[in-house]
Amino acid sequence: MKVLKFGGSSVAKPERILLIVAILQKYQARGDKFTVVFSAFGGVTDGLIDMAKKAEHGDMSYLVSFEQVKERHLSAAKELISKDKLKQVLAHLEKNLDDLLNVLKGIYLIQEVSMRTLDYVVSFGERLSNFIIAHILDNNGVSAEFLDARYIIKTDRNFGAAKVDFPETEKLIDRYFNKHADKVQIVTGFIGSVKGSGRGKDFGLTTTLGRGGSDYTAAILASGLNAEVIEIWTDVDGVLTADPRKVKKAFTIPTMTYAEAMEMSHFGAKVIYPPTLVPALRKKIPLYIKNTFNPDYVGTLVSTVKNKSEHAVQGISSISNVSLLTISGSGLFGTPGVAGRMFTALSNNGVNVILITQGSSESSISFAVQPNDAEKAKKSVDAAFDSELKNGSVNPLLVEPELAVIAIVGENMRFRQGIAGTMFEALGKNGVNCIAIAQGSSELNISVVVPRTDESKALNALHEAFFLSETMTLNLFIVGTGLIGSTLLKQIAKQAAFLKTHHSIELKIVGLSNSRLMSFEPLALSHESLFEGGSLLKAHSSQPADIAHFVERMQTMNLPNAIFVDCTSNASVAHAYKEILESSISIVTPNKIANSGSYDRYLELKATARKKGVKFMYETNVGAGLPVISTLNDLMNSGDDVLKIEGVLSGSLSYIFNNFKKETKFSDVVKQAQKLGYTEPDPRTDLMGVDVKRKLLILARESGLPLEEKDIIFHYFLPETCVEAPDVSTFFKELELADNYFSKLINTLPEGNKFRLIAKIENKTATIGLESVNIKNPFYSLDGSDNMIVFTTERYNDRPLVVRGPGAGAEVTAAGIFAEIISIGKYLL
Ligand code: ADP
Ligand code: ASP
Ligand code: MG
Repeated sequence: MKVLKFGGSSVAKPERILLIVAILQKYQARGDKFTVVFSAFGGVTDGLIDMAKKAEHGDMSYLVSFEQVKERHLSAAKELISKDKLKQVLAHLEKNLDDLLNVLKGIYLIQEVSMRTLDYVVSFGERLSNFIIAHILDNNGVSAEFLDARYIIKTDRNFGAAKVDFPETEKLIDRYFNKHADKVQIVTGFIGSVKGSGRGKDFGLTTTLGRGGSDYTAAILASGLNAEVIEIWTDVDGVLTADPRKVKKAFTIPTMTYAEAMEMSHFGAKVIYPPTLVPALRKKIPLYIKNTFNPDYVGTLVSTVKNKSEHAVQGISSISNVSLLTISGSGLFGTPGVAGRMFTALSNNGVNVILITQGSSESSISFAVQPNDAEKAKKSVDAAFDSELKNGSVNPLLVEPELAVIAIVGENMRFRQGIAGTMFEALGKNGVNCIAIAQGSSELNISVVVPRTDESKALNALHEAFFLSETMTLNLFIVGTGLIGSTLLKQIAKQAAFLKTHHSIELKIVGLSNSRLMSFEPLALSHESLFEGGSLLKAHSSQPADIAHFVERMQTMNLPNAIFVDCTSNASVAHAYKEILESSISIVTPNKIANSGSYDRYLELKATARKKGVKFMYETNVGAGLPVISTLNDLMNSGDDVLKIEGVLSGSLSYIFNNFKKETKFSDVVKQAQKLGYTEPDPRTDLMGVDVKRKLLILARESGLPLEEKDIIFHYFLPETCVEAPDVSTFFKELELADNYFSKLINTLPEGNKFRLIAKIENKTATIGLESVNIKNPFYSLDGSDNMIVFTTERYNDRPLVVRGPGAGAEVTAAGIFAEIISIGKYLL
C-alpha cells in the first residue's frame, strides 16, 4: 500500500485536479494499491479562518467570503462531475455549506469563536474538497470512496494542534480499511476527532492536527496501514536546498535523512509538516516529496540513507520573524537552577522556545520565540524572577523584535571542520550581523539570529557559500553611462558567459543610472547592441535619476554580493560612498573625487570598508587600467621602503609635450590635442594640473603621506593671461599670444632634451613641474598619451620598478574597473 497526499496548491483549480486524476490513473493501471489524502483547495483554510474571525468581530463581510468559497466548490463540482452524479453531489455539498453558514452565523451572534469552534469551521475545507475529488476520481475510472478522517484519527482535546492517540487510531484504521478494501479511500487531511467524545455513528468533537497537517494525516495512515511508501505531492520539485521563494538558485536535494528533513522543515519552511516525520521514522517508511506539476521528476527521497553528495550542508532554512529575549544579571553566575526556573515559567505559560544560547560566562541566556509569544514570555519570566528583579541581581527580560533565524542543516556537517567558519565568513562579507548563535552537539544544525531585514541576503549568501557547484552572482549597481560606463557595459556583456562557465561568476546588472534616468529592472546581458550610452536606460526606464534614491533602493533591495560601480566624475555620487559602504556594498570607482577630497574623508572611507568587510577599490584613479596603486600597495605591504615615486600621470599633457617641438607652435599643439579629445573641453583643466594633482595626491596618500590638496606643489607654466581668460575661446586667443613665450621656453632646452610634466613624491613632499629630460631619463622615450610611473625603493634602487602603458581611454579604464569587479567576486567566492 502507498499513501499519497496532495497539497492545497495541487488542488487549487479544477484543471489541476485533472493532473492528479491522470497520475492516479497511471498508478491504478500499473496495479498499485494506494490511499490518497487531499488538503483543502488552496487558500480555503485561510479563507475559513478569516471568515470566522470576521464574524467574531461583527464584520458582516464574512458572508461575502462565504459566498466565494461556496461558489468555488460548487463550480468545481459542476465542471468536473458527470451529470448523473452531480445532483446528489451538489445536494451533499449544499447541506455541508448550510451547516458551515449556520456556525458562522452563530459566531457572528455571540461574537466569540473558541479554538474548538474554529477547528470545526476549518474542517469544512478538507471535507468539501475530498468529497468532490472522490467523485471526480470515481467518474474517471478510479474506483474511489470518500472517507472523513474523523472516523479513524483520534486525538486529545488540544484544539488547533491536537495530539494523535496512535494505538486507538491505528486500530480504527486497520478495522476500517479491512472493511473497505475494495475501493481507493480518499481521506480528508488535517482533521481528526476527540477520542471518546462521540457515540455510535457520531465521531464526536472535531480537531485539527496543526496548520499544514494534511502531510501528517498521510503519515498517520501510512503507519496504521504499514504502508511501503508515503508520497507528498506539492508544487515544487521536492525538498530544495532552500526555500525557492527566497533563494532563486535553490535546487532539489535528491536524498535526505528523516532527521535532516525535520531540521529543514521546522516551522516557517513549509514543504513538510515536521510531525509527519515521526511516524514515518518510527516505522521506517520512506517518504517521497514530488511535484504534481512535474510528475516524472523523481523529487526527494527521505529515508534512513544519508546523501552521499560532497556537500556537508544539505540545506538552509529560515524562520522569518522571531523575537529574541535575554535574561541577564549578576545573579545568574554560578547559580544552579536559573535556566530551569526560566524554562519552567515559559512552559507553564505555553510559550514555545525556538532557540537557546548561553555563553560560558553565564552572564546571560538568550532564547528566541515567535513574536506573538514575546509579551507572554516576558511577563512569565519577569514574574518568575520577581524577587531577583527587586533586589537587582537579575535584570528585566530584554526583548529584541524583528529578527530572523537562519539555519544550515546536514548530517555530514558532523566532524567536518570549517563549516561554521564558512558560514560566518559569508555572513560577515555581506555585512550581516549575527546576534545570537546556536549549535547542538549533534552538529546537525547551526542556527544564527540575524536582523529580519537581512534574512534574504543571508540565505542567498550562505547558499552560494555552501553550494559551490553553483555559480556566485555579483549584483552590480552601475552609475554613469558615458564613455566609460558604456564601454564597461559592453565588456561585461561580451564576457558574461565566459565568466559563468569558466569562473562560476555570474554578473547581474540590477541597477543602472545616468544623470537623467535610473532603472532597477535586471538587464539582459545578451543585448550587446543596447549598450550604447543611455539608450539602454531610455528603453528601460522613465524613472528620473537621483543618487539619494538610488542608494535608498540599493539598501532596500539588500542583495548579497552587491557592488556599486561609479563611472561618473561626479561629486554628489562620490559623496554617497560612505553610506554605500555602511550598507555593506562594495565600491569600484574610477572617480577620483572621493579619494582626493579631505584626508580625513579618505581615511574614513577606507575604515568604513574595513569595518563592514566590503571592498573599496579605485585602481583606475591613477593610470586607468595600469596596476599603479596595486603595485605600490604590494611594495609597501611586503615591507619595502618607497624612496621616490615619479610619474607622467596625464595622458593629455604627455600628448602635448610629445608633440611640442621647436618648429611647432604651442597653441597649435593644444588645439590639436583638444580636437582629438585628448584634453578636457577646457584644456586648462589639464594644463593647470587639476587632474594630475588629484592623482599624485592619491598616490601620496597610498604611500602613507597624510597630504591635502594644498600640500601639492605645482609649478605653473601657463602665463597668467591664459589662466585668467574668461572663456575657452579667449583662452585660445591668449595662448596664441603666448606662443612666443613657449617658443623661448623650448629654446632653453639643451640639444636632444625633451619637456615632461613630472609628478614626484620624494622626501615627504609632492611636486609637479615641467622638467627637461635627456635620453638617459626613463621618461624620455614616452610616446603618445602613455603614462609611466617609476618606483624607486629600497629593493628597487639601482634599477627602479617601472609601470608603463596607456593611462587614459575608455577601453583600458573600463577594463581596469572590470578587473576589480572580478577580484571582488574571487574574494567573495
Ligand atoms: P502544499 O500546499 O502542497 O502542502 P506547502 O505550501 O505547504 O504546499 O509547501 C510547499 C511550499 O514550501 C513550496 O511552494 C515552497 O514555497 C515552500 N518551501 C519552503 N522551504 C522549502 C524548501 N526548502 N524546499 C521546497 N519548498 C520549500
Ligand atoms: N489545509 C490545511 C492548511 O492549510 C492543512 C494542509 O494544507 O496541510 O493548513
Ligand atoms: Mg503543506
